[in-house]
Amino acid sequence: MDLMAPYSWKQIRRHIRRYNMLCLGRSLPAAEPWIRSQLIGVRGPWCHRCGVTLHEASDLVNRCHACLDAATPWNELLRLGSYTPAFAGLVAGLKYRKWWELAGPLGERLGHVVRVELGASAAREAIWTSIPMPPWRCWRRGLDHASMLGDAAARAAGGSTTRVLKRWWGGPQAGASRARRLQATKSGWRVATGGAKQVCGRHVVVVDDVLTTGRTMSLACRMLLGLGALRITVAVLAVTEPNRRSNGPTVLRSEH
Ligand SMILES: [Zn+2]
Repeated sequence: MDLMAPYSWKQIRRHIRRYNMLCLGRSLPAAEPWIRSQLIGVRGPWCHRCGVTLHEASDLVNRCHACLDAATPWNELLRLGSYTPAFAGLVAGLKYRKWWELAGPLGERLGHVVRVELGASAAREAIWTSIPMPPWRCWRRGLDHASMLGDAAARAAGGSTTRVLKRWWGGPQAGASRARRLQATKSGWRVATGGAKQVCGRHVVVVDDVLTTGRTMSLACRMLLGLGALRITVAVLAVTEPNRRSNGPTVLRSEH
């Protein structure tokens, strides 16, 4: 069992204890008012290519200056907000503390943004999917947050989710150095049974929690384009602003 190799029995036992403790004794503030209070100030116009917040009045075309003539593997990027510390608290609660109650309201809000931006019928008829999570990571965290967000978002937009891509392994992203994130490769990614058939010639909406370097999302989108996807819309809860990224602009701009 190569996958288990990085974990000692002591660590596994600790995870099980933590899981039980969280399930039995956690205290979650009421999800809805909490989300509402944390979302104040994170909305605003954003670049529909890289996702950064637009501050200048002249940015009327939904593009930042860096993206005016840049190409991305997706046609547009829709987001709920900027990745502020308050927003980060929400995402961390969902991802690492198993506060699954946050997935529904956050996903619904994201689905609403997609419906408004794409139009009700385009959002309903699109194929909705989410960035896949390796099974061992899903087991360790106790939930697949991206898939839960995708389900809630698709439901809010009148569509339904399909599993197109699978991922067998892949190192955890949070806390990883920028260099390590950029090393992410296609190895470990697979197309789910029937995935190619579903995506071919269709408009695909890909849901994830946070876009940081965009590397994972680029990889997924390029695979979807390879399967014949006609148009790709990326829908994420939040986008990390360039000044919060460790080193300059996102990889998308230099790569495409
Ligand atoms: Zn941009």
